[in-house]
Amino acid sequence: MSTSPNEPRKVLIVGSGPAGLTAAVYTARASLAPLMLEGEPSSTSDQPGGQLMLTTEVENFPGFPDGIMGPELMERMRAQAVRFGTEIITEKASRIDLSSRPFKVWVGDPAATEPTYTAESIIIATGARSLMLGLENENRLIGHGVSTCATCDGFFFRGQHIAVVGGGDSAAEEALFLTKFADTVTLVHRRSELRASRIMQDRLFANEKIRFAWNSTVEEIMGDQQLTGVRLRNLESGETTELPVTGLFVAIGHQPNTSLFDGQLALEDNGYLITGPGSHTSVEGVFACGDVQDHTYRQAITAAGSGCMAAIDAERWLEGQH
Ligand code: NAP
Repeated sequence: MSTSPNEPRKVLIVGSGPAGLTAAVYTARASLAPLMLEGEPSSTSDQPGGQLMLTTEVENFPGFPDGIMGPELMERMRAQAVRFGTEIITEKASRIDLSSRPFKVWVGDPAATEPTYTAESIIIATGARSLMLGLENENRLIGHGVSTCATCDGFFFRGQHIAVVGGGDSAAEEALFLTKFADTVTLVHRRSELRASRIMQDRLFANEKIRFAWNSTVEEIMGDQQLTGVRLRNLESGETTELPVTGLFVAIGHQPNTSLFDGQLALEDNGYLITGPGSHTSVEGVFACGDVQDHTYRQAITAAGSGCMAAIDAERWLEGQH
């Protein structure tokens, strides 16, 4: 199949998590021969398959009563997209120009005069990444005690002692959710007051399973194959203490992957792409799905659902153009 810039693709999908791959399955089955830029392998969530590549067992994706490993789920979605004719390129988009149609997309040198691909419509599924602490062992122990998603992984910590890092609404929400499973949840916050909303704070303070490590940061994440504990530093006294926990949930915020679209698409104040109606963005012919436009639900199944919406929106929009 030709990928010459002179022949615009009908649909180009950027990103290959559940949202992008579902959009690919739908647009491929609609005979739109989608081209997907799936990204490049890396050790962070910014890789083909997205955030699920960093999780272990997924038990809440309907259709898998015995659960499925995150990477296997993504491999299956990818195979399904390929089966219907999606062309997948294992590269990252380095530049995207949405100022005129067909839209222009570069991989490799963003300063090259000619774009690598052109497309009549674009589906953005670049996802979001959890902000991380940047400590040694953190990436290595993701899925082995370290997590960024209580909804996904909380169940595995039944009867255990765990810690949550952060002082905002996400940390509060994660900590409260985790009390359903864990015996104790220690909220580690770098200041002496929370940023979380009043109502969330009230719920935290009322929950007897929740403890607080105020004015504290995680200095070391301990464990070989599995997390065994964290070393905390009290920022006021300088004292360090060891907290034996088998779970560490990092909830210090998320960042949507929107740098390719800076100044080109309307963003919310928190940086997420604005969509609506449906998956339409502020530029006609450009659609967005998954976590890059969703800071509320952030689940694999909601991302997949919104990928389906973007595919149908793109298909209908393309029909209207011809
Ligand atoms: P956030 O409000 O930006 O809070 C991030 C928290 O992490 C802050 O307490 C911050 O500390 C801490 N932090 C940041 N970097 C850190 C680091 N390197 N080490 C240790 N701690 C660090 O992010 P969020 O909680 O994800 O919330 C984002 C937005 O979504 C907010 O507007 C929030 O209200 C909203 N949200 C709402 C709900 C809800 O209503 N149910 C749920 C989730 C999120 P400092 O306080 O010292 O800055």
